[in-house]
Amino acid sequence: MTAQMTSSDLAIETVSLTKHYGRIVAVDGLSLAVPRGQIFGLLGPNGSGKTTTMGMLLGLVKPTSGRFRLLDASISYREALRRTGAIVENPCFYPYLSGRDNLAYFQGISGKSNRGELNELLERVGLAARANDRFRTYSQGMKQRLGLAYVLLGDPEILFLDEPTNGMDPDGMAEIRDLIRSLGTGGRTVLLSSHLLHEVEQVCDSVAILSRGRLIVQGGIHDLVHSLARDRLRVRTTDNEKAIEILSALEWVGEITVENGTIVVAVPAERSPELTAVLGRSDVYVAEMSAEQMSLEQYYFKVTGGGDGEAG
Ligand code: ATP
Repeated sequence: MTAQMTSSDLAIETVSLTKHYGRIVAVDGLSLAVPRGQIFGLLGPNGSGKTTTMGMLLGLVKPTSGRFRLLDASISYREALRRTGAIVENPCFYPYLSGRDNLAYFQGISGKSNRGELNELLERVGLAARANDRFRTYSQGMKQRLGLAYVLLGDPEILFLDEPTNGMDPDGMAEIRDLIRSLGTGGRTVLLSSHLLHEVEQVCDSVAILSRGRLIVQGGIHDLVHSLARDRLRVRTTDNEKAIEILSALEWVGEITVENGTIVVAVPAERSPELTAVLGRSDVYVAEMSAEQMSLEQYYFKVTGGGDGEAG
């Protein structure tokens, strides 16, 4: 997908971006291509490098090596940041000020926009009716929505949202997800980090999966799900050992594993007749063959180990 894209189609591009903290490699040679106007998910378990990546893109963390670009190459990094909104850590709202006054305060210090914009934003995030109530009386979901209003000040072209539903109950999460989807319209690009596959599947157009600071795969969610569902065959043969030997030598065959006496081969499903023929020529016969329906969830679990990706 990214191969046909020119760099002006990309809102964010990183090339071999790397961050070391002493001996810890937090981000390891990360090359990302985030298409303009998409909601792009950075997906990975805790410690996989998502926050560090966002920190580098926002100028908060100095990369050890590699480079990146936000928006057009023709504008300065400073200007690109001016067109960017981010919640990497929760903004510190004042508990005794109303939602509106909190926003007005941050608007004042950012110098980004006009006061008329506040009503529009409060409306947009569904807080208009409670805008004059004190922040401390807000539910968790309302606090989060105020955070999204804050990030939208000045109508940014790129939004960075780090684990936007972290610690929320399921109802609040669903509400925020709908809102995030609506923010990714009209050409705005959203980079969202999450350790929750379902969240990314429901909200994002594209995804990059990270594990221990490394990029495992990136692309459109639908393409990814499609390719996972069709690119693995389960094969039972008359001589598995010999079959593995033959198949390993073929350049169009990917990873080969054995599960309960069945060989699982990474190969496009349409090449299954070819696979049968190659084995047959060496007197190895296929007793059973089926396409393995690997879900994105199984894949995510497999590539990330399903748990803590602490690098070290
Ligand atoms: P989480 O969601 O838990 O924040 P993450 O995917 O965002 O996870 P990072 O926070 O980027 O991951 O952390 C990546 C690795 O870098 C981890 O091993 C973490 O302990 C380490 N790390 C992050 N920041 C620092 C720092 N300031 N000093 C030392 N190590 C750090």
